[in-house]
Amino acid sequence: MNFRCKPFGRTILLSSLRPNAPYRDAELDGGKIVLYEGHDLRSDFSSSDPKRENQPMSFPGGSLTQNGLFYQAAHDYKEGRAPAEIVRLYEKLKPGIWEFNGLFDLVDAWTESDGTRIVFKFKLVFKEEQVGSSQLLELQHSRMIPASVKLEVWKRDDGKCQKCGSTVNLHFDHIIPYSMGGTSLTAQNIQLLCAKHNLEKRARLDG
Ligand SMILES: [Zn+2]
Repeated sequence: MNFRCKPFGRTILLSSLRPNAPYRDAELDGGKIVLYEGHDLRSDFSSSDPKRENQPMSFPGGSLTQNGLFYQAAHDYKEGRAPAEIVRLYEKLKPGIWEFNGLFDLVDAWTESDGTRIVFKFKLVFKEEQVGSSQLLELQHSRMIPASVKLEVWKRDDGKCQKCGSTVNLHFDHIIPYSMGGTSLTAQNIQLLCAKHNLEKRARLDG
């Protein structure tokens, strides 16, 4: 979690929906809404297992942790004191590989019990879906590929371009293009292509 981190003042969250991920993040509505779990007590502030301790709002000295900063921003928005904080969300596909998932508004935050302790939850809403009046249509037909679909494609395609086997500069390509009605919601319509083959395909379709 990085609230308005320097040097660009951007707010960034890293998420992972992998089965063994350390935090329980969840996607709803095909990835349009993300429930993001807060971070644990740092191990240097904890005498026991951080996974058994309540997630912290503030440091022992009183200043806000990242949980506290995000929580305060969400409530400033809810209570009309500030516009929604814009969050850049990245999804972990595998160790060292993060995929930009888009811009989200931070619209709510709360704490809840996970059964053994108190955790923070942050509600993020995909930004592009909030403009325009045809929201329902947009939900069914969106360029955005949900993280769960990306993970399925990544595994199926073995992290390689499907034309040449390259493992660098990979993109998620709509097999039937989005502009021609191709869906983002099933792995059957998404494949991995390297930048070169992705551009080649677009040039063919546009030209
Ligand atoms: Zn390629």
